Amino acid sequence: MVLEIVNPLGEKRQRMNWHEKVDQYLEIEKILNHLFSGFNYCLTQCIQKPGDEGELHCGCCNRPYHEIYDQDHPSFEILRARREALYGKPESHANIKRISPCEYHTLKGCILKTHKSPVCLGFLCKESIQALRSDYGLWTYDYLGVTHALEWLLTGDLSGKALDDFRQMCLDMDRTVMSEE
Ligand code: SF4
Ligand code: SF4
Repeated sequence: MVLEIVNPLGEKRQRMNWHEKVDQYLEIEKILNHLFSGFNYCLTQCIQKPGDEGELHCGCCNRPYHEIYDQDHPSFEILRARREALYGKPESHANIKRISPCEYHTLKGCILKTHKSPVCLGFLCKESIQALRSDYGLWTYDYLGVTHALEWLLTGDLSGKALDDFRQMCLDMDRTVMSEE
């Protein structure tokens, strides 16, 4: 017979640690959201801009990415629980008029102003990255790098100096965009 050793204090500490990771994630999200609000490209140049035939489209939100890419990990679960406490469960938005299979998408874009999944927060398409370069002289936005860093922050694989460097990089990019406003 194998005896499982239960350490409730250790488990509690670990859970607190995952909550701290989510808090750190939300802090970075705040910086990135500030950057995106200054950039303001997705809504004005894509989501709310009809296509050549006048048709509405959902930009890159053509799948429920929050569901597809979120990992089976405690900090992702905490992020999801906090998101759903603020914005409701995805299925509660099932009847909203929209043109995307993602439940959080509306005709005015994503309803998640915070607590997005890493892929939803970090992704920028080629056109928007080009606009960052040409309009703001910002050449350092690497969407895969940002998305992976956000994921690793949540899983605890990005911490200490690496996390400080990532936060600083986000602050620097935000400053670059805001200095052009
Ligand atoms: S990242 Fe690109 S495709 Fe996605 S909403 Fe923004 S402009 Fe549109
Ligand atoms: S959660 Fe928001 S950003 Fe992510 S796919 Fe859905 S609408 Fe797009």
